[in-house]
Amino acid sequence: MGFGARGLSLLSGGLDSQLAVRVLERAGAEVECVAFESPFFSADAARRAAAALGAKLRVVDFTADIISLVKSPPHGFGGAMNPCIDCHAAMIRRAGEMMAAEGLDFVATGEVRGQRPMSQNAQSLLTVEKASGLKGRLVRPLSAKLLEPTIPELEGKLDRERLLDISGRSRERQIALAAEFGIVDYPSPAGGCKLTEEAFSRRLDDLMRHEGLDDLGLVGMLKYGRRFRLEGGSLVVLGRDRGENEFLEGFQFDGSRLFRPSGGRIGATAFVPRLASPEDAATAQAIVDAYAKGTGPAEREPFRCWQII
Ligand code: SF4
Repeated sequence: MGFGARGLSLLSGGLDSQLAVRVLERAGAEVECVAFESPFFSADAARRAAAALGAKLRVVDFTADIISLVKSPPHGFGGAMNPCIDCHAAMIRRAGEMMAAEGLDFVATGEVRGQRPMSQNAQSLLTVEKASGLKGRLVRPLSAKLLEPTIPELEGKLDRERLLDISGRSRERQIALAAEFGIVDYPSPAGGCKLTEEAFSRRLDDLMRHEGLDDLGLVGMLKYGRRFRLEGGSLVVLGRDRGENEFLEGFQFDGSRLFRPSGGRIGATAFVPRLASPEDAATAQAIVDAYAKGTGPAEREPFRCWQII
């Protein structure tokens, strides 16, 4: 057979993205994988999956792309601050740039038509293809037979007959294929992206509206601490355990302040990136003291109104 397409497949580490690689290989393609990482999601699951598949993996820093999409997502957000359609299209576009630069034939994803109501319905698949600018070069091997043939299929470089026609939300066929290909380790679909979490998104939205998202240190700190937004506008990040206290103590820059419990008490450290007023300094100290060892919920109650999450 004269197949032999060469391409890049997006690998999240989830089952569908792993299956896509194996199905493409079976259809005659030579496949390398691409994964993306940012302060909101890591590429660790992709690294594990690539190792298990024996596939070559490129990890791309996606921080600037995703921050710009969070600030202004052309197709809006999902259930939280997850700009999935644009994020996905931007990942495909980045992979497409690599494809073009290296003279490869396609970019592939593990998307399944109709699997997710927002991001993988028939219209979204078309929207993503259009927004990514990869028309005809974007292969979805798990649903390919339900979609228009792509250029590598039309050129006879990819065996369409060996691509699949999976659609819908049932995972039955994917589970059976996993067994057939011997794939045993895969995280749950859509897991691992902080932008899909409501509590995290509230913090992110608060940071965006006040300090902005240009300081990557502050963006990286979103996972840490209890957070309070004081009347004067200062942000207080209060460590929740020893590890977080140590992290906050090591994280300082021009104009930032640390607060520790007064009177020799033991307790959490608070980090304030920019102190807005002397009143906020007094409140920050009062919060730290209220959370010091030996104080009860009643003493913390007055500060709940400022707590973001
Ligand atoms: S879940 Fe997160 S990483 Fe995945 S497409 Fe949505 S925003 Fe991007």
